[in-house]
Amino acid sequence: SLTHSSYPLNVFSQKYPPVKFLSEKDRKRILITGGAGFVGSHLTDKLMMDGHEVTVVDNFFTGRKRNVEHWIGHENFELINHDVVEPLYIEVDQIYHLASPASPPNYMYNPIKTIKTNTIGTLNMLGLAKRVGARLLLASTSEVYGDPEVHPQNEEYWGHVNPIGPRACYDEGKRVAETMCYAYMKQEGVEVRVARIFNTFGSRMHMNDGRVVSNFILQALQGEPLTVSKQSGTSTRGEPNVFVYLFSSDLVNGLVSLMNSNISSPVNLGNPEEHTILEFARLIKSLVVSRSQIQFLPEAQDDPQRRRPDIRKAKMMLGWEPVVPLEEGLNKTIQYFNRELEHQANNQYI
Ligand code: NAD
Ligand code: UDP
Ligand code: UDP
Repeated sequence: SLTHSSYPLNVFSQKYPPVKFLSEKDRKRILITGGAGFVGSHLTDKLMMDGHEVTVVDNFFTGRKRNVEHWIGHENFELINHDVVEPLYIEVDQIYHLASPASPPNYMYNPIKTIKTNTIGTLNMLGLAKRVGARLLLASTSEVYGDPEVHPQNEEYWGHVNPIGPRACYDEGKRVAETMCYAYMKQEGVEVRVARIFNTFGSRMHMNDGRVVSNFILQALQGEPLTVSKQSGTSTRGEPNVFVYLFSSDLVNGLVSLMNSNISSPVNLGNPEEHTILEFARLIKSLVVSRSQIQFLPEAQDDPQRRRPDIRKAKMMLGWEPVVPLEEGLNKTIQYFNRELEHQANNQYI
């Protein structure tokens, strides 16, 4: 019998988002590890719509099929249920290596698995890149700077990380992942790209992952108090705790342009516009038109007081900077959360 993908694409094209035609020469085979997650699924959308062949590898720890279900059956798309801690043998031209839990509650849930994913998982993907001659982009993080002592952080800063604190499984895992990238580059000639990603938000982020944007939106939509950590309101030093948030589409554009650039050293991708957590709570409250209160909670352990990317390198070398205004990104995310809550309510008794 005919399989779905043996039909000419146009028979089913109604069903899929529009895909650009790329000639054989320009079309790449691209692997996205963690592609069923928040960032990975948006990246999948962009690369699919640009006309590439995309293979998503995910163990569905925090990701879900629903994030990429609109591509299932498309002849350019493949979804593999696989854990990157196990070796993977496929043929690809580029690897976006995003597989790793990303929010504190998720990566602290099983710290050993977080370490394995970031070390053994990254080693496997570098081994794959080496074998097939693919270029690998690592989704690193601003957490490699730890609780930074310099502001803003540029790529030269070595960081301030507690190696045995509760965040270490993630922070140190990503630091060694970076180290492995450069070891494979120097020793084996693997082409690597390292994106140091700062806090990002948008649709398909986990509603219950405990990060500030999702917490506040959910709390505001449900009329519950917005939980501002004590030091996030105002620190003991009397300074407000400030944070920065990047919208997902800006991040995805940055990742793709970094991958296709010739910059092998780490590049910060973040939004340098600072906001206090309290400002954030108030803004989300007003966008949702919510009657929620604001509630102050004690400070979390090893919580960075402040983080701000220096993005001059990305600007100069990639011509990249965030373009989506904060309120626009928040409104889109609020709409998504609203739909998700409705979806949950409708499916409660099924
Ligand atoms: P996410 O949790 O939505 O996505 C991570 C994906 O990786 C999930 O789909 C998960 O199921 C998958 N995964 C986890 N362990 C795996 C394993 N062992 N094998 C295969 N798949 C596995 O998180 P996200 O926010 O989309 O983050 C994506 C990447 O970007 C992560 O590497 C994260 O560290 C990095 N990053 C994200 C942010 C942010 O603010 N979202 C900031 C800095 C860095
Ligand atoms: N690896 C993989 N896919 C490949 C090639 C390698 O998953 O296509 C894994 C392999 O299991 C190994 C790791 O990547 O554990 C590192 O590979 P490398 O070739 O550097 O190391 P070696 O196999 O020589 O130990
Ligand atoms: N935060 C908060 N209320 C929440 C969740 C987080 O005030 O409900 C604060 C947290 O203490 C930190 C900041 O928001 O100062 C950013 O935390 P988040 O967990 O979003 O990001 P990460 O710690 O990963 O940078």
